[in-house]
Amino acid sequence: MAVWNYTKECMSADERAALQGRRLHRVVEYVYHNTPFYRSKMQELGLEPNDIQTVEDIVKLPYTTKQDLRDNYPFGLQAAPKSEIVRVHASTGTTGKPTIVGYTRKDIGIWSEIVARAFTSFGVSRDDAFSVAYGYGMFTGGLGAHYGIENLGATVLPASTGNSEKHARLIHDLEITGIACTPSYALHLAETMEKMGYDKSELKLRIGAFGAEPWTESMRKEIESRLGLKAYNIYGLSEIMGPGVSYECECQEGSHINEDHFFPEIIDPKSLSPMGRDEVGELVFTTLTKEGMPLLRYRTRDLCTLMSGECPCGRTFVRMGRILGRSDDMLIIRGINVFPSQIESVILSMPEFEPQYILIVDRVDNLDSLQIQVEIRPQFFTDDVRTIESFQKRLADKIRSVISINAVVRVLFPGSIERSQGKGNHVIDNRILK
Ligand code: ADP
Ligand code: ZN
Repeated sequence: MAVWNYTKECMSADERAALQGRRLHRVVEYVYHNTPFYRSKMQELGLEPNDIQTVEDIVKLPYTTKQDLRDNYPFGLQAAPKSEIVRVHASTGTTGKPTIVGYTRKDIGIWSEIVARAFTSFGVSRDDAFSVAYGYGMFTGGLGAHYGIENLGATVLPASTGNSEKHARLIHDLEITGIACTPSYALHLAETMEKMGYDKSELKLRIGAFGAEPWTESMRKEIESRLGLKAYNIYGLSEIMGPGVSYECECQEGSHINEDHFFPEIIDPKSLSPMGRDEVGELVFTTLTKEGMPLLRYRTRDLCTLMSGECPCGRTFVRMGRILGRSDDMLIIRGINVFPSQIESVILSMPEFEPQYILIVDRVDNLDSLQIQVEIRPQFFTDDVRTIESFQKRLADKIRSVISINAVVRVLFPGSIERSQGKGNHVIDNRILK
């Protein structure tokens, strides 16, 4: 399998640590002189740029949170002067006020480099034609993937979201070989194609690059079998860059982090102390080369592991495990921590159900309740109430064995849950309103 940038992606651990140390020192010096927010934080801690010389020194630096970005909205953490900024993106705002990120020309260049690394690692070459169906616009997904694939030299169809029927027709007619979008949208597209009567064997699709929201192994299999392609994970967040911060390789055991540009740590979200390899905690990034909005120890709120061991693909960048959820996605139901992804895995393990579901959490008489609404697949649909009840019971039993919660399952008609064009939303927590 090809590697886009062998020198960087496969560098030795010593070489990399030396490069990261130099870059870390440089970025700390840069923000100290250009971001008043960081200068005062460092002064409070009695730190000067020269105190940071190697990667081990990173623990001396302060954390940055989403709240810091909100408090300094819109451009307070920007380090480069306005005249150097060539593009501005805004995060989706899934969890509140959007954060604004400015990029210099150099930042955009690095971004298209890391996306080219990712797509090369998925097996994409100049001969591929890729449809980018992440939203184009303020969201980083569309343009981020677009520039990287162009940089690699493959053809891009900038499909964006919406207009799924036209999109499906073009995937067929233009012999599109790859698609980049959210896993939710990939499912929606698969359904659209099925409705339009396209069989996957008539398509040339072979590679999918999916990300921007958590998804499970079972979802991967579902999408692969419905679209007839191999699905790869791509991860990123606008605060740090956008898609391409990490990417899977052909081994598909975790996603390699572009460590020459982003220094990762895993911390305990409560005590904030660093955690070891293979331990689940909050992912934290320090940007090592960014000019527009460099961030020190940014707390992503994404929960995962940094994996130990070497990857057989030859890349030496550390791998992060699948995102289990965001710390703020985690539902606490009757004191039990539940991630929507756990429920998704159970639903997908039953052939009777579509991977379309909504979790409704409520509080009645001071007791939390969980209702799972899930669509039945057309081939299992029946008006025999007892059969439907047996499906409900089987799902409720399986859920209980995984999360120890008695959930009420409601089976819905095929097609009754609204499909998402971008990031899917699976949770309605009515307790927040009470
Ligand atoms: P917002 O925080 O407003 O959603 P972004 O659009 O920048 O902003 O989304 C970044 C977030 O999306 C990440 O922090 C992570 O929670 C999620 N995400 C991105 N890629 C993946 C992925 N491959 N797997 C799981 N979650 C992902
Ligand atoms: Zn690998």
